[in-house]
Amino acid sequence: MVKAIVGANWGDEGKGKITDVMAAQSDIVIRFQGGSNAGHTIINNYGKFALHQLPSGVFYSHITNIIGNGVALSVENFIKELTTLEERGVPKPNIMVSNRAQIVMPYHVELDSMEEARLSSKSFGSTKSGIAPFYSDKYAKIGFQINDLYDDEESLKEKIAHVLDLKNVMYEHLYHHEKLTVDGIYAKLVEYRELLAPYVADTFSYLHQAVKEGKTILLEGQLGALKDPDFGIYPMVTSSSTLAGYGAVGAGVPPYEIKEIVTVVKAYSSAVGAGEFVSEIFGDEADELRRRGGDGGEFGATTGRPRRMGWLDLVASRYGVQVQGATHVALTVLDVLGYLDEIPVCVAYELDGKRIDYFPPTAQLKHCKPVLVKLPGWKCDIRGIKKYEDLPENTRNYIEFVEKNLGVPIWMVSNGPSREDIIYRDCK
Ligand code: GDP
Repeated sequence: MVKAIVGANWGDEGKGKITDVMAAQSDIVIRFQGGSNAGHTIINNYGKFALHQLPSGVFYSHITNIIGNGVALSVENFIKELTTLEERGVPKPNIMVSNRAQIVMPYHVELDSMEEARLSSKSFGSTKSGIAPFYSDKYAKIGFQINDLYDDEESLKEKIAHVLDLKNVMYEHLYHHEKLTVDGIYAKLVEYRELLAPYVADTFSYLHQAVKEGKTILLEGQLGALKDPDFGIYPMVTSSSTLAGYGAVGAGVPPYEIKEIVTVVKAYSSAVGAGEFVSEIFGDEADELRRRGGDGGEFGATTGRPRRMGWLDLVASRYGVQVQGATHVALTVLDVLGYLDEIPVCVAYELDGKRIDYFPPTAQLKHCKPVLVKLPGWKCDIRGIKKYEDLPENTRNYIEFVEKNLGVPIWMVSNGPSREDIIYRDCK
């Protein structure tokens, strides 16, 4: 059976932890989109890890981890993360990298930084990992698939020369930067070829067989529905689809095999980078939530940047679970809200003086104001509670209010950062 774990919000919902929990009962974990531009935080008996490029199943020796064809692979980050795991005592994981995945080229990273600098105050808040230039090139058909690295020298150099003709126009005339050389890029690709050789595989055939054998396969999404290039807050989105539906493409499994779509909703909101965020809060209120949020504060796992904070936006989250096609919801970081007397929740938007309960596209979204209601807080620490019935009444009321507004059953409640901090509800 194929299951997906994806985000309903702006990312950083705690997907890494939920994947880590669900991975225990899985055979295969696959990353199907994105690159090392976002991080998943996982806390387990080996310590605390921020994974950017590796799938979250790498801590279990029974799991085959796959980097799917839809991923932007940074060879440097891939090797760096593997080395860190080894240094910190994690047994060597099983990893396969699709021979159709494409490589983040050195110029993608440089172009990302140079473009953000050029845009200055109008920048996208990119993590400068080369993701936007990477996906632009993929769809402009000038990307490098991993299998290209194993092509003969002449063909590979010819392809590099063709691409550099275009890149060097930008390097020279737009960014006033020293030009790239064919030999320089070729040498880099030879290096990548050797580093990747132990991992490259025909993951499509492997997965085809695994589906046939009834293996449990987890598709692990990065970022969230609101960062999807089609359904998100365009143009302040990421460059690959963050939706479970894309999992079929980015991993290479039949769409009808995805039977369970666990969509992670965060009990409050946070966002990294620019873009519409209707329930955003500021000042002391935001600082306090940021400081108490997540595990050790809401700061980017990849960049360390302070995240933008807000109350739970049920309009955006309901839309998020809808575009993901959620079958179940995992509600995370609920424990963080234990300090509040009353918890504001955004239940609708006001647009041009009218109340709306749908999530509009960007041109209208930017004029929306939040309609907030306040739910009573529970004023205690709920970490360590294992059973739903043992949660305070106001906590259960909050969960049930959210569930009613999302229209999808909340199956998991996460009440702390570690694997054990999880409460299952009887809704499957
Ligand atoms: P992801 O990219 O969706 O995996 O999210 P991140 O890893 O960027 O952010 C989630 C943060 O919240 C991490 O620091 C997690 O350790 C932490 N976290 C996840 N679930 C919970 C939870 O239920 N309670 C608390 N307090 N922290 C959590």
